[in-house]
Amino acid sequence: MSKTAESVWNNCLAFIEDNITSQAYKTWFEPIKAVKLTDNALSIQVPSKFFYEWLEEHYVKILKVALTKELGTNAKLVYIIRMENTYGNKQPFTEKIPSSNRSNMQSQEVDVPLKNKSPELKNPFVIPGIRNVKIESQLNPNYNFENFLEGESNRLARSAGLAVANKPGGTSFNPLLIFGGVGLGKTHLGHAIGVDIKDKYPEKTVLYISAEKFTQQYIESVKKNNRNDFIHFYQIIDVLIVDDIQLLSGKAGTQDVFFHIFNHLHQNGKQVILTSDKAPVDMIDIEQRLLSRFKWGLSAELNHPDYDTRVAIIKNKLYRDGVEMPDEIVEFLANNIKTNIRELEGAIISLIAHSSFNRKEITIDLARKIVDNYVKHTKREVSIDYIQKVVSDYFQMDVDTLQSKTRKRHIVQARQLAMFFAKKFTKASLASIGSQIGQRDHATVLHACKTVDNLSTTDKQFRKYVEDLNKKLTL
Ligand code: ADP
Ligand code: MG
Repeated sequence: MSKTAESVWNNCLAFIEDNITSQAYKTWFEPIKAVKLTDNALSIQVPSKFFYEWLEEHYVKILKVALTKELGTNAKLVYIIRMENTYGNKQPFTEKIPSSNRSNMQSQEVDVPLKNKSPELKNPFVIPGIRNVKIESQLNPNYNFENFLEGESNRLARSAGLAVANKPGGTSFNPLLIFGGVGLGKTHLGHAIGVDIKDKYPEKTVLYISAEKFTQQYIESVKKNNRNDFIHFYQIIDVLIVDDIQLLSGKAGTQDVFFHIFNHLHQNGKQVILTSDKAPVDMIDIEQRLLSRFKWGLSAELNHPDYDTRVAIIKNKLYRDGVEMPDEIVEFLANNIKTNIRELEGAIISLIAHSSFNRKEITIDLARKIVDNYVKHTKREVSIDYIQKVVSDYFQMDVDTLQSKTRKRHIVQARQLAMFFAKKFTKASLASIGSQIGQRDHATVLHACKTVDNLSTTDKQFRKYVEDLNKKLTL
């Protein structure tokens, strides 16, 4: 039975998958392809130079162990880096043997249709001076690396950000695209990179701008007939940070102008940092040529922070605000607000405010109230689990009973109410509600919703149940 590159690599993968987090495995190992096996050398293809560097820096040990198990102590690993050239046609592969001297990446040519002839600079960020043009960075110094706490959820994005800040334009993370859901730190990290660069390289021109503002400026420039000035202004920037680029979606003119600016900056070794609430593959109504550029560098995701990171973020915030709070309450907050750091901070702020306005101690009860209120006012969706719990509690039964197959009238009613509220308060489909409430099908759920509707118009007692539960669920 002879070994193939693929079989050897699959065995390595199985071993690696067992030994690292699934997130890391997905990010760093799934995209790799085994290409060739000669004697003891396995060649694997990686998507970029950055990828190769990251593997070498973080996973070289485990790769070695895995490979040695497969190919013996003389095992060798050869990386093949797939490079994409400017216009999308693939360039020949470059091969890399670990730790050999790193050949330079081929430089990429981009033609810039606009001549950069001493532009007249007109821009809201330009402070008119005699000769010296000074551009306000629009950076918020409070959003820095020091208070951007590190955790599993942001490690890649944060380290890539630091790398970019150390060598703006000089790493393969250009552009650096940071993406992730609301309130997970995209804006903070974008600023932090800019702030750090300004610190290290005060002479560099850094500009932070939201895509929204960029769009407005562009529209303004078209109205005033100075589109070229607008473009030229952006072309002299050394580090351009554009926040929330998903907002460019559907705006062809702005995308076009951004495309030219991007090409110019990239071509000239300037750094571009972008943030988005979606991964490039999920962006809609963004032109292909622009999307493909977003993928040139590194896309790094900000995930939901894990429990420890949430605790660390809360403690750091309290420390900076000079407030003390019992651990019990910190843990309560971290346990109850999980998916949005902005909400977490909001809850801390209201908690502190309540306790100081009302001269009350910060207690768990107060924390519970605030979290309930706070989270309700934002967007917490009640979960089907929670609904089942509230309904069973109300009828003094346990959830298992509510879900059971019994036809006893009061249990059937409780179950139907749970289904009704699940339909009302969640976005779940009938089928999914059914499967979560005692493995029923969608027709049963539909029937339950109709029954509850009917009964609440004909049966006074039943109407009372609906009203009570409604209150409990919306409190
Ligand atoms: P986004 O732009 O992704 O919606 P923000 O950057 O506005 O999110 O972050 C929301 C809030 O959470 C900000 O106040 C920010 O300082 C805070 N925050 C986010 N990530 C972290 C982190 N890792 N450490 C500390 N604070 C964080
Ligand atoms: Mg933001």
